[in-house]
Amino acid sequence: MIFYSTNKKTTPASLKKATLEGLASDGGLYVPSEIPRFSVEEIELLGEAPFNHIAFAIAKKFNDGEMPDESLWNIVESCFTFRTPLVELEKNTYVEELFHGPTLAFKDYGARFLAHLTGYFAEEDHKLITILVATSGDTGSAVAYGFKGVPNTRVVLLYPSGKVSRLQEQQLTTVGGNVTALEVNGDFDDCQRLVKQAFMDEELKHRLSLTSANSINISRLIPQTFYYAWGSLQLALRHPGKKVVFSVPSGNYGNLTGGILAKKMGFPIEHFIAGSNANDSVTRYLEDGRYEPHPTVETISTAMDVGNPSNFARLRHFYGDDLRAMATDITGHSVSDLETIDTIRSVYDRFDYIMDPHTAVGFRALEKFKSTNGAQEHPSAVMSTAHPAKFIEAIRNALDMDIEIPDRLQEVLDKQKISIPISTDYRELAAFLMKL
Ligand SMILES: *Cc1c(COP(=O)(O)O)cnc(C)c1O
Repeated sequence: MIFYSTNKKTTPASLKKATLEGLASDGGLYVPSEIPRFSVEEIELLGEAPFNHIAFAIAKKFNDGEMPDESLWNIVESCFTFRTPLVELEKNTYVEELFHGPTLAFKDYGARFLAHLTGYFAEEDHKLITILVATSGDTGSAVAYGFKGVPNTRVVLLYPSGKVSRLQEQQLTTVGGNVTALEVNGDFDDCQRLVKQAFMDEELKHRLSLTSANSINISRLIPQTFYYAWGSLQLALRHPGKKVVFSVPSGNYGNLTGGILAKKMGFPIEHFIAGSNANDSVTRYLEDGRYEPHPTVETISTAMDVGNPSNFARLRHFYGDDLRAMATDITGHSVSDLETIDTIRSVYDRFDYIMDPHTAVGFRALEKFKSTNGAQEHPSAVMSTAHPAKFIEAIRNALDMDIEIPDRLQEVLDKQKISIPISTDYRELAAFLMKL
């Protein structure tokens, strides 16, 4: 399969080129030349298949013979070693838990697949690839854990000193091995500027085989279709003849874009709800077709605080810039912080289930959809993007109690932090990288 840039000013790329480049050189986002389709028979055959079989069947279509099936299967098996449970809250309403990976958030799916593909392609070229990332928290930890121990790769993370939560800092600084954390004496913008400068430094870029692992990489998007396909097939088994409505808590809209691809591939999905917090640029676009991004506002669903979502260009591309087509598949609802807290409470009271603030946005958006569109005959599922223990403060505020910390998080909290302090002077970063 070939991939081209949404700006259409570059030559088409292989999966390898698109993966190692991340962003196309014309600044566009890579998209597949066509969306692979599954026939009704193929979907039927996958109906009761385990998660990794479904993941492999999809990955195979995007890979299209570029790497041998056996290698691709091994990659899928190394990535998805954790469960993707569907929890029933009440009749017809489910939570699909995407937080059972190493960093307890859905970004593990994308980061792990990207890491293993990168490692594979690096080995093919007999190279050691250096992944350089600026992070304000969540993406960095998923990338660190995704690449941890993957041969032919090493990761250098830049994070702003004192500006990430203690849990995030521990997740960034205790991985060790092929992952190094640089603690920048500045803010997130400084980290991003330093990384950009490094990518413009041709000598450095060449010598280190630098690549980024940013969230718009096509190899982070592909695995984000797997759990939609899996969830839709599992729910079709429980509700024969019915298609699911998925509600997706959205920030950069990468997760939702994965879902749209799964629907377009032919998996039994009826509709999508895109839940946003106060950062509602896309929600407003879905209402009136005007895209007017506002500056980012801070909310309690921090990972969704994105004023101008970068994946929106890709989402639009898949609908040929046709708002009406997009609005047929996606309904947007914006949810305030007060509503989010209220939802965490009411879900706990009604179902004895604790949702993190991001998932609560998705759940509230689904409720808004149901109240305006009437009782639904379709089963619905909220994509749960993070484990509630990652947001202890918000849960404490909503429920007035502390929740149990899973062993995996406690272990990370107990580890010794190892970071290398650097200033915001680019020469310091360059000198450090040159010595690697
Ligand atoms: C990144 C993230 C989101 C938003 O996902 P997008 O793909 O950016 O829309 C939602 N919830 C959590 C917990 C996240 O980490």
